[in-house]
Amino acid sequence: MSESESELMESGEAVIESATVSFADLGLSPPILQALADVGYETPSSIQAGCIPVLLAGKDLLGMAQTGTGKTAAFALPILSKLHLENATPQALVLTPTRELAIQVAEAFARYAKHLPGFHVLPIYGGQSYGIQLKQLARGAHVIVGTPGRIMDHLERESLSLAGLKTLVLDEGDEMLRMGFIDDVEWILEHTPAERQTALFSATLPEAIRRVAQNYLLTPEEVSIKAATQTVAAIRQCYWQVSGLHKLDALTRILDAESEFDAAIIFVRTKLLTEELANKLEARGYSVAALNGDMNQQARERVIEQLKSGGLDIVVATDVAARGIDVPRISHVINYDIPYDAEAYVHRIGRTGRAGRAGTAILFAAPREMRMLRTIERATRQPIEHLILPTQQAVTDRRVSLFKERVAQALTTEDLDFFESLVSELETEQEATPERIAAALAFLAQRERPLRLEEKPQHAKKREYAEYGLPRPPRYERGERHERPPYRGRSASFPGEDVGEDDRGNAVVMTRYRIDVGRAHGVSPKDIVGAIANEGNLPSRLIGRIDLYEEYSTVDLPNDLSKETMQILRSAWVRRRQLNLAPDNGAPPPRRPSGGRAHKPYGGERFGIPPRDEDFHGNPKPWRSERPVGRFGRGGKK
Ligand code: ADP
Ligand code: MG
Repeated sequence: MSESESELMESGEAVIESATVSFADLGLSPPILQALADVGYETPSSIQAGCIPVLLAGKDLLGMAQTGTGKTAAFALPILSKLHLENATPQALVLTPTRELAIQVAEAFARYAKHLPGFHVLPIYGGQSYGIQLKQLARGAHVIVGTPGRIMDHLERESLSLAGLKTLVLDEGDEMLRMGFIDDVEWILEHTPAERQTALFSATLPEAIRRVAQNYLLTPEEVSIKAATQTVAAIRQCYWQVSGLHKLDALTRILDAESEFDAAIIFVRTKLLTEELANKLEARGYSVAALNGDMNQQARERVIEQLKSGGLDIVVATDVAARGIDVPRISHVINYDIPYDAEAYVHRIGRTGRAGRAGTAILFAAPREMRMLRTIERATRQPIEHLILPTQQAVTDRRVSLFKERVAQALTTEDLDFFESLVSELETEQEATPERIAAALAFLAQRERPLRLEEKPQHAKKREYAEYGLPRPPRYERGERHERPPYRGRSASFPGEDVGEDDRGNAVVMTRYRIDVGRAHGVSPKDIVGAIANEGNLPSRLIGRIDLYEEYSTVDLPNDLSKETMQILRSAWVRRRQLNLAPDNGAPPPRRPSGGRAHKPYGGERFGIPPRDEDFHGNPKPWRSERPVGRFGRGGKK
């Protein structure tokens, strides 16, 4: 942890302001106050109380606060308050690290601008067709919310003019840094009017962000919400040590026995597992859906909408797909698979306890994962309590009482005449007592989700994996011998293949792809990471080694990219050139140029995303540079 970060965490108790300030006190315009009344915000959150006056006064701002503290309104409200509606050119630009966030922030603007007739906000992000965006840009907008790569493209093509820009907001600065966008961000900062107002928001202040603040903010006011914020404080955190019971059984027990349960988001580590677990929960009678990066934007939005409206109670998601989701009714976050690092954990649990509500976060940790759990505790400075799994009896009791409630409600609210005569018919036809018939009906009513929990006999582990349709994890996963998968490196028998890791540390087979942009076009590795991460919606950690050549470059990516992602990446643009991403089938690019000067690789290093390039043992990921293979063998045979 950097000094500034620990400083941030240490500097005092949660500053949660008492409800003395009102939105009107902050100087917001009447139509905005009206909209706030409509959405039902009563008082400003502390980051809002701190930032709004600064931004209204036209000063630069450095805002530090964790997720869920209300940063969006902190910048959106003053921007809207000062807007010149008659002038339909971009007056504010908000940069966000992901398209989900771009959409969410744009939606928030639209909500707060409900009483500003003719107001127009436009989200601009990678992966969406240029045609649509060009049309929308031509139509004009007051506020643009976008991801850095795509905004840069439009500025270069001059399809977006920021000549009239008054305010520029960088949302989630640390996340931008982690995703490798900081260069793009600086480029944009350099291509906007110097007299603009700039606001930078970040949960932490890593060195690179501090530098951006120093270089691009003009005597900024600093507003920080320190230490444990409401978000984390309001969340009950506990863990269940995986033992005996299968995780799936433990999960359903928890889902059934938690009394304050409203909706849950369950985190797993791979796209595949989101589908698998969602299917299994569905088979057990839960209303559940998967949410992952393979789904297109519309499908993902639909899932989030349904979760919001109560059409779904559970979403099984990957970290990337769930980033930034804001659904206040999420009462539980379940870390079915332990997160990759403490930061990911904080992002995950921030999906609950939204808007001042209570939330519960439950972490499943295998014995060998307890070290990670302690790391998380240290980083968040909060104990994670040991959760005793509810007993079978407790779950049965709870299901029975819910069942009784449903019956009682039907008895009082439904018109039962038709059904009563049905029971009478059964009584004579079957010569059964009404009790017996009612019992049969109760049985039928609960068959999908039995009231009585039956303990599964302890299986041999092998059978258990088979039963749940899971491939038996490799040995290092089962805690035997290796802690990490042995790094296979680029082996002679798999030319062009590399082995990386997904966020669980599972091996992901990487393949080398070739793209039609090289050093001659002025491209940098960061441009490539940015474009692929943003356009292809790939987490940056799955973007491997990049080598720049004169006319083209190579990049290592997972070998099982979806058709959709391939398509998007084929047609993505960097430095005004289409990537034409294709597997690098040809002869391996000359590693050691034979006398020519043209083909010297850049050096193959990765840039810009340091934290994610390390596993949680602090070891660099294999593709970072040419490390000796043995380094990942940790107790392995290499
Ligand atoms: P952040 O960007 O800090 O993670 P968001 O801007 O996404 O936080 O806000 C988190 C949630 O809090 C959203 O659901 C938002 O509607 C809600 N919210 C923001 N400000 C207020 C407020 N003053 N009163 C009540 N709810 C608020
Ligand atoms: Mg935010």
